[in-house]
Amino acid sequence: MENSGLTEPHLEVSVSRRARVGDIDVRRALPRKGRRTVGAWCFADHMGPVDVTERWGLDIGPHPHIGLQTVTWLIDGEALHRDSLGSEQVITPGQLNLMTAGRGVAHAEEATGHYRGTLQGLQLWIALPEETREGPPAFEHHAALPTSDAGGVVSTVLVGDFKGLVSPARHDTALVGVDLSLHGSTSLPLRTDFEYALILLEGHVAVNGITLEPGKLGYLHEGLDEIGVDVRNPARAVLIGGEPFPEPIQMWWNFVARTRSEIDRAYSSWQSPDGRFGEVSSSLPRITTPAPYWQPGSSQSAPPSVAEGP
Ligand code: MN
Repeated sequence: MENSGLTEPHLEVSVSRRARVGDIDVRRALPRKGRRTVGAWCFADHMGPVDVTERWGLDIGPHPHIGLQTVTWLIDGEALHRDSLGSEQVITPGQLNLMTAGRGVAHAEEATGHYRGTLQGLQLWIALPEETREGPPAFEHHAALPTSDAGGVVSTVLVGDFKGLVSPARHDTALVGVDLSLHGSTSLPLRTDFEYALILLEGHVAVNGITLEPGKLGYLHEGLDEIGVDVRNPARAVLIGGEPFPEPIQMWWNFVARTRSEIDRAYSSWQSPDGRFGEVSSSLPRITTPAPYWQPGSSQSAPPSVAEGP
């Protein structure tokens, strides 16, 4: 496919690593060593597809976050979000849950109890900028998002704007997140001031002769105004992008901060609850973790090369 970008698209492919969140195997596409952020996007887990049964479902107990937004997007199934703001929200495919942690929030992700079938989805994190990262927590649910069906692709805009469609979701930096259901070869318009990553969920696509499949992320540097995507069979992907994040971030467990001491304070506020994270009304047990490895006497093993956590 002809490409009219300002520079040739060179796709840097990385393989997601396997991780476990609760009882679910996930493919963690971000962060990667050497590629910690794409715009302000700093974490991407593709969970499932797995079967929800009478005895097994999503059950991620209450845990804290600071300095980020969580974006929950389901491909199949349903889940129940509860948080320390009192939110209780079922989410189904096509809908968006967006939680802004700011200075601190806690939440749980549960099974709805009655759903049986396939569960598959994405959990993405967005690092908050200096101006809002210590602001108040908030939660948004969007029951419907703008969608277009043109040129071989159904595009649903999760965050930001794409092809003239604007998501109502809050964002504090210039970024975009789009779900792409590809049923033919197409070209995707890009912003030259954004870097991007394409995360494959189902099927295969090729960009400039390089093939992506589930479990792989393809990164594109700034400077492109479009990319051609070759698709032989239906494929599903998410495109994330944004202005390169200007501030170095420190990520540990569920926290995005700037310094270790900020993380130390958040950790102790969760271990010995002091009200910072509030209470989540959930029957699941609170999730805890060993102290950060840099703390004296920590039982946490060797420094992880990339952040861990749900
Ligand atoms: Mn979480």
